[in-house]
Amino acid sequence: MTENTEQKTQPDNSLSLQYVRGIGPKRAEALAAEGILTAGDVVKYFPRGYIARDAAASLKDLAVRLRAEAQENFSPNLFKDATFSLQGEATIVGSVSAKHVHRFGGNRKMMVFTIADGSGGRAKAIFWSFVEYYDKQFQQGQLVVISGKPELDKYGFVSFNHPEIEKIEPEDEEDYARGKILPKYRMAQGFKTVGLSARTLRTIIESVIDREIPNMQEALPDYLLKTLELPDIQTATRNLHFPNDFKEIERAQTRMKFEELYFFQMLLALRHRGVKVQEQAPVFNPKSARARWLVDKLAFELTRAQKRVINEIVADLQSGHPMNRLLQGDVGSGKTIVALLSMLVAVDNGFQAILMAPTEILAEQHFKTISVYLEGSELNVTQLVGGQKTKARREALENIANGQSHVIVGTHALFASEITYNNVGLIVIDEQHRFGVAQRAELKNLGSRSLKADGDIKTTPHILVMSATPIPRTLSMTVYGDLDVSIINELPKNRKPIKTKVVFESALMESYEFIRTEIQKGRQAYVVFPLVEKSEKLELKSATEHHEYLQQNVFREYSCGLLHGQMFWYEKEDAMRAFLANEYQILVATTVIEVGIDVPNASVMLIQDAERFGLAQLHQLRGRVGRGAEQSYCLLATKDHFQYHLNKKEDEQAERKAAIIRLKTMEETTDGFKIAEVDMKLRGPGDVLGTRQSGLPDFEFADLVTDAEIVDMARREAFKTVDADPPLRRPEHEATRRKFVQLYGTGQNFFDVA
Ligand code: ADP
Ligand code: MG
Repeated sequence: MTENTEQKTQPDNSLSLQYVRGIGPKRAEALAAEGILTAGDVVKYFPRGYIARDAAASLKDLAVRLRAEAQENFSPNLFKDATFSLQGEATIVGSVSAKHVHRFGGNRKMMVFTIADGSGGRAKAIFWSFVEYYDKQFQQGQLVVISGKPELDKYGFVSFNHPEIEKIEPEDEEDYARGKILPKYRMAQGFKTVGLSARTLRTIIESVIDREIPNMQEALPDYLLKTLELPDIQTATRNLHFPNDFKEIERAQTRMKFEELYFFQMLLALRHRGVKVQEQAPVFNPKSARARWLVDKLAFELTRAQKRVINEIVADLQSGHPMNRLLQGDVGSGKTIVALLSMLVAVDNGFQAILMAPTEILAEQHFKTISVYLEGSELNVTQLVGGQKTKARREALENIANGQSHVIVGTHALFASEITYNNVGLIVIDEQHRFGVAQRAELKNLGSRSLKADGDIKTTPHILVMSATPIPRTLSMTVYGDLDVSIINELPKNRKPIKTKVVFESALMESYEFIRTEIQKGRQAYVVFPLVEKSEKLELKSATEHHEYLQQNVFREYSCGLLHGQMFWYEKEDAMRAFLANEYQILVATTVIEVGIDVPNASVMLIQDAERFGLAQLHQLRGRVGRGAEQSYCLLATKDHFQYHLNKKEDEQAERKAAIIRLKTMEETTDGFKIAEVDMKLRGPGDVLGTRQSGLPDFEFADLVTDAEIVDMARREAFKTVDADPPLRRPEHEATRRKFVQLYGTGQNFFDVA
């Protein structure tokens, strides 16, 4: 089937659209607006769904499901035993049994179609815009497909607001009735006005597919199709447009997903290889007397996971190739000591080591922790943060430049142009997601400049980036796929899992009481509240008021500290220091405490308005307790009405549902990776990463939420391909190479790395 790869037909051999029957100038224009210029492009306009009698929900079942869900939402035991479905869209097929245009004051109109299917159920499809268009297009008796988010209105009717609605044309009706699968295409707005319906699109594809399919070039190596039992591109294309059954669709989709992911992983594999081959790094002798010395004096034993990760790092450090490694480990898994031990290897080899943190509090804390660990070692630890006193800063800069500083800890201040580093061999970046890719590169450049050049090849420091934000595997393999990844998947033995409970505001006094009993045992507590104010001034006011209220009305006998984002860094530091010294029993705080703060004696955290926080944030916050040997607790306070209130507005309802799932998830697990999976299902991969500039590619077929297995497979195969034939010069990779270049270009000289 794949012998066509040999054929040298170019894609532009494809028939121009104007020669295709059924396409006049107007339609050609509408198609061109969607990037469809040739008949070949038409064939690559793949369906985005399928309609089949067996697969559509019956209206009756749908109503039953929605009622059950509504019931659940009203249940006062919501947080105890409800199970939540994240089911969103539904597709139904039925005929228009009635239609009605409602007119309101002004010029407002609303179109309501009543849809009936054989099940005895009914639904409404409601449109507020394009009313004339819908009125003209859809007559009584017309068989239609509706896809959208169903809701139950207050009369118990299933209704869809602005769903996708499409006719099943008379010609298709018979097919549909016979159980044939009808593909659904994305119908651009411009299609409607030129009379391009799903049916006409199908007819057009049908008329050109036999001519166009032989032009399609297979880009996947033949041996992969065979071993993975994937259909070739021509078969897959045909099956996607004209499937005989869902199995065919699934196999074709798997192939398309695999192809996308395979090429993307190949990009990562080549980048990964590029760094290793085009740059060199200092070779470290792994035997470090000071690392040994520190391990021996630790009050605890390193966990197995910590030891494994240290070995992975040390192997990089002695390879001569720059380390480019991501260290993932849940909050409290003990990444700091791993970083420090690695830095000691660098120092014992005569190099400086840098540790960069995203906030001053965190940098300060690292500085202190490391200084204490290194007491008696005669090593110099230097701190660089913003707002330092002139004298301290001058001294720091001198020590860095003349090489007296061994370990340098700082924030963004590490980028300042007047710093001259002296032989930086290792850079560690903590909470790396707080930094941009550009900042990472900048620090690496600063480090490179401090290294003595050695021949023609660029010499760069080793880089270790750390993250306490677990992200799902599919995401780390995609976004950080060019890094090597080490995971600390084990917490130190003395930890007890934090007990978490959702509490309601009417019972808040009990929560305060609980905090009191903990404090009486000698523990400390955090009370966290969300920032809801838009202006800094109001933010300050709300933080201050909250603090005052708790100090004067609730915890009069204790001392409450305050920590918020509008404080100067040294004020924050003072507050933290006082809390650490137990001068405050309670720290009232906004989310500034989210990152990295370590106060082992704090055993309770009360999070107010917990429904407002995202999952990743809740997990990070909760990680501030449970850091000592004591049992720790996390109370998630939320409004009572939140428990019962069923909002009628659809998006509010969805948000509310998501909030409940977040709170429930927090109650159920402390495993950051599990939490991250749920988070990704709720928010999608892009938002989980936080930034749109995260380098997440737009896949047409692949879905990082559901396609973990295919991602794995594609990564394995792509790395294998690149390992075996880095320039992709073997005959069996010729078409693969061509496609890769077409997708990602040659500008980066990927193939010069052989
Ligand atoms: P994170 O991975 O969140 O940065 P830290 O490095 O701050 O975690 O470590 C959290 C706490 O656990 C620190 O107080 C640290 O001293 C302690 N710790 C680290 N490793 C171990 C271990 N193997 N056994 C016991 N405690 C440890
Ligand atoms: Mg940390």
